[in-house]
Amino acid sequence: MEYRIQAIGRIHSCYREKFGIPRQPGLVKSAKGAVELLPLCDREEMFRELDTFSHIWLQFLFHEAVADGWRPTVRPPWLGGQKRVGLYASRSPHRPNFLGLSVVRYHGLRKEKGKLFLDISELDLLDGTPVFDIKPYVPYSDSIREASSGFVQFSEKKIVVRFTPEAEASCLQYLQQTGRELKPLIQEILGQDPRPASQRGRKREYGMLLWDRNVRWLAEESSFTVLSVRECG
Ligand code: SAH
Repeated sequence: MEYRIQAIGRIHSCYREKFGIPRQPGLVKSAKGAVELLPLCDREEMFRELDTFSHIWLQFLFHEAVADGWRPTVRPPWLGGQKRVGLYASRSPHRPNFLGLSVVRYHGLRKEKGKLFLDISELDLLDGTPVFDIKPYVPYSDSIREASSGFVQFSEKKIVVRFTPEAEASCLQYLQQTGRELKPLIQEILGQDPRPASQRGRKREYGMLLWDRNVRWLAEESSFTVLSVRECG
């Protein structure tokens, strides 16, 4: 069976590459973005009353996973990257149809230069992600108190994140220039430990792109140090 569907929107996100994006929405509160509505669905009336909801579901395409294909079993990071589980017992982006599902905080509709945007935060989505559907999150049926969460166990353990004076000054300057709060964003992302399970415990330097900045940081045993935050091309 084959059906044709069309993207209704496109994500604008602080996340410019896959590395650094949290494993689920809601984990990094400072992550900000928007859904730009494409001509098929850029009519304000389609969103009437949506602002009475605090959160929305987004259904989207893991467009940057398509080229890598998929396998029937995967090694979820929750299990230290060791054990394999069935693809459908995971939230892996690499799946037939490459469809993703995220609940994000909704901040309202914005019109800019003739385009419509839905402002969102707490997202786990790459910049440019195609969006296929939007629905309100309704706690009375979407939140299940007695649900079991399988092998996914949330850990409160956070990593200590420090900034060099140079990195700290760059964040402050960026805030003054753009109004974007880079420092808490970096702190929250690194606090989740974005490294693949296989690289944990090793001293190594990493880089990640956030907005139009290249963030370099050093991972040591139990702490991370943000070395620099510089403009990227
Ligand atoms: N909440 C979603 C996503 C879980 S996987 C779901 O359960 O379906 C989260 C990972 O998806 C992130 O760590 C990020 O690396 C990856 N990701 C986000 N947007 C993507 C995109 N457009 N293409 C490929 N991978 C993406």
